[in-house]
Amino acid sequence: MNVFVVNCGSSSLKYQLIHSDTEKVIAKGLCERIGIDGRLTHKPAGKEEVVREVSMPDHKSAVSFVLEALTDKDFGVIKDLSEIDAVGHRVVHGGEKFAGSVLITEEVIQAIEECNELAPLHNPANLIGISACRALMPKVPMAAVFDTAFHQTMPKKAYLYGLPYAYYEDYKIRKYGFHGTSHSFVSKRLIELIGKENQESKTIICHLGNGSSVTAVRDGESVDTSMGFTPLDGLIMGTRSGSIDPAVVEYLANKLNCSLDDVINILNKKSGVEGISGVSSDFRDLDKASMDGNERAAAALDMFAYRVAQFIGAYAASMNGVDAIAFTAGIGENNFKVRQAVCNYLGYLGVEIDETANARRGEEIRISTDGSKTAVYVIPTNEELAIARETVALL
Ligand code: ADP
Repeated sequence: MNVFVVNCGSSSLKYQLIHSDTEKVIAKGLCERIGIDGRLTHKPAGKEEVVREVSMPDHKSAVSFVLEALTDKDFGVIKDLSEIDAVGHRVVHGGEKFAGSVLITEEVIQAIEECNELAPLHNPANLIGISACRALMPKVPMAAVFDTAFHQTMPKKAYLYGLPYAYYEDYKIRKYGFHGTSHSFVSKRLIELIGKENQESKTIICHLGNGSSVTAVRDGESVDTSMGFTPLDGLIMGTRSGSIDPAVVEYLANKLNCSLDDVINILNKKSGVEGISGVSSDFRDLDKASMDGNERAAAALDMFAYRVAQFIGAYAASMNGVDAIAFTAGIGENNFKVRQAVCNYLGYLGVEIDETANARRGEEIRISTDGSKTAVYVIPTNEELAIARETVALL
């Protein structure tokens, strides 16, 4: 079965065509600058990448260009659209309505719309992608796979905030958590690797990328996670502050004489390791600057690792122990210094890192020694494959 996986942003659309039996990517690509001008980058497996500047006034035209590219006689990978058997859509917010992936129907679309105000930047774009695909492939079954769904198993004590209860009931203010597709994919694999599929298990997943979150997974279910009502909470990230004292918001608005919107924008886009270092949000740049003696870059790296280690400690306490920890995403998979710095805090869990294994990057590997009381792994995430698997499972 060929599954077309779509991840629609406000001005971009990422896609992969995945063969579900072999789990091979047949083609993948990206539409950028939708609604501005438009550029399609299309990479068929085993062939040269194709880049086309084409006018994309809206997402429907972007989907239409992608479908043309997939069926093109030179750089296409399928004869015609009948070879697309299903479509899997990434949807950011499923609120409390969706605790798992679902096949898309009119009712589902309506329910996703009702979650729009919880993710005003993302959900409307995801819905536009869904309606564009439905218009061009009306007979093809489609699934919605939510970033929040995996975390719907969190207990109330983990997801409620210390606010008047009415705000939870009336406005749905609570912790939702994000990166659920990745946390689910990686935790499943970690539980397999430690041979605990049919036993009790306590694992902690560190998804460390531009956006970062840590999740406590007990017996395969999310029981707590570091992102909250929005992805701004928790760890210090590339440009996001992570958790701060909420009183800072008002104080800063007064000092800068700006609106609450402006402050939230600073917390989302100008903070994190970029804001601290003044260098970059990219950890490769921070590593280099720190080695060149830049103290703020070094401080940003220290703060990042410290915060990750704190969440691991909190979640080991929440679960009364931890069997295994996994690192994933851009930083978690590639940056051995960050992994080492985090693990340096974990002596009390009996964590011992094998430096040779930890020096490897971008591959699935156990990085703790055989004698390490808690096992530590690097497990590459693959959200597109996870979406394709979910879609096939629903069919
Ligand atoms: P996003 O949240 O945007 O998907 P990523 O998971 O790609 O982000 O993570 C981006 C971070 O991962 C950057 O800080 C970068 O330093 C790091 N990273 C990504 N790929 C590599 C790589 N091949 N080598 C080293 N670091 C990488």
